[in-house]
Amino acid sequence: MASGRDFPFTILDIADLLRLNIRRRGGSRVVYADCPICGDRRGKLGLYPEIDTWRCYHCGECGGMLALYGKAHGIGNSEAYQEICNALEVGAPGREYTPKAKVETVPDAPQTQRASPQEIHRTLTVLLTMLTLSPAHREHLRAKRGLTDEQIQGFGFKSTPPAYQCRAVAAQLLKQGCTVEGIPGFYLDGGGRWRAKFYQRTSGIVILLRGVDGLLQGLQIRLDHPIKKVGDPPEKSGIKYLPFTSTGKPMGVTSGNPIHFVGDPSSRVVYVTEGALKADIAHALTGRTFAATVGVNNTKGLDELFAFLRRNGTEEIVEAEDMDKFCNPNVSRGASKVHELALKNGLKCRRLVWNPNYKGIDDWLLALRRKEMKKKEREQMNFKEMYLNGMCPFGYIDGCMDQWRNRPDLKMSAAVYLGLDHEEHKMFLHEPASLKERLDSQRRTQKFRVFQLTREGIRVHDFAFRGTDFLHKAGYEQPPADSYQLVYDGELVHPREWTENNVLERIFSLCNDDLPTGYQGHSLSMSDIVELYDGDNRDFFYCDEDGFTPVRFDAEQAAPMGEADGDE
Ligand SMILES: [Zn+2]
Repeated sequence: MASGRDFPFTILDIADLLRLNIRRRGGSRVVYADCPICGDRRGKLGLYPEIDTWRCYHCGECGGMLALYGKAHGIGNSEAYQEICNALEVGAPGREYTPKAKVETVPDAPQTQRASPQEIHRTLTVLLTMLTLSPAHREHLRAKRGLTDEQIQGFGFKSTPPAYQCRAVAAQLLKQGCTVEGIPGFYLDGGGRWRAKFYQRTSGIVILLRGVDGLLQGLQIRLDHPIKKVGDPPEKSGIKYLPFTSTGKPMGVTSGNPIHFVGDPSSRVVYVTEGALKADIAHALTGRTFAATVGVNNTKGLDELFAFLRRNGTEEIVEAEDMDKFCNPNVSRGASKVHELALKNGLKCRRLVWNPNYKGIDDWLLALRRKEMKKKEREQMNFKEMYLNGMCPFGYIDGCMDQWRNRPDLKMSAAVYLGLDHEEHKMFLHEPASLKERLDSQRRTQKFRVFQLTREGIRVHDFAFRGTDFLHKAGYEQPPADSYQLVYDGELVHPREWTENNVLERIFSLCNDDLPTGYQGHSLSMSDIVELYDGDNRDFFYCDEDGFTPVRFDAEQAAPMGEADGDE
């Protein structure tokens, strides 16, 4: 067998492709990882970069790099070689190995005509029947996205197939009488055979893009591992979604950036956002009708869609692009385009503004739902917890006693039910006033104020709705108070043992979504200032990316409350 040095990749590239879990490094000579063949998870697989070989000290398998990839996927060495070259986007041996984030094109590769909408729908529908949804992806959709199994099935989400099945998938489609030429995502490989363009490196959740007519127009992949461009700063999150396309590949075809539509095609109001998955989730949570562009500036298809919707009875478009429309010029441009196209087609258009702590409308809706669950939790608090948190007057204890007497569960004592210890319970029975005094000594009142950037301030400052990193980058050591305005002055009651941080977190949840009476601003979010005060003691905190950061703030410079400077 040829030595590893003849290959345009190394065993560490293979480890990367296989996403091996690296446990430890023994100098430059050996790297220990979990074995993809026997599944051992204690790092018994030794990878030897100097000689590009490997050995598992648990199952005893060993060999060259192709065998590692081949055995992990159950394929032979030559197929493994093709697959690795494809996945790493490297060519013939000898060529310099340059991993690139998104080199998807072969120069001057002949492209083909897009197939008809019906053909695309048919092929993609059959393709989806060949795919499954992995347990990890299902769990993501359930836990992180709040979807039920029924909804997941309804939307038809799948997982991308392993890369080595790409040719078999195309062959199977052809066998079933489907067209593959002209279907986005399919192309002719070097051996003159059709294949579907799924790579190991771009594995993820397959999202379906449906037109307003219900036909599948294309697919999108939510990547398991976001792709970063070479030279991107580490804090940049990378590309999370890729269209399923074969642009630039021999006989490939573009995805065409279709508009995804979910809901009722004759709905009076249609919401427009960016991202098909986001639209699906928002639709699942609200039952409302959504249209989604793939990429915030791919608004081309909206013109035709709006014309169709207008004829179908739609009257109003609600633009619900991500909240970073206020600080991201790219998003803001896309949002303006939605307005322009809606007006052009005789539709009313308004902008949806929600709690800026949630970037996308789906995050916001999901948070509202979680909040309802939190409210249910609060209903389970006992009397003492509620009183120490200022959620009820002392007299509420009598109501709690009535509830206790009417409980079907007779085992719980009144003291436990109320949250009182033995001594407190005795006080309650004999001398309620002394119990009140005792509980009052266990809680305290914290006065606080909230300052937010004025609308002008939001326009002018890049750190609006962002953390102190951005504040500093914008050239400020401390937040510029003259761009701020007082929006709330109130107080909160809390258990005495609470730390300052507990108090700030509580203020955060208090000033979110369901705002207190007299509160004049938006939900408390990054770049806001919270002041805790008590007589002459004044402490200021910047609402930061991760909690609160103490800052100096010259509150006298901030605009007073009450002069609302015009809503849009
Ligand atoms: Zn093993």
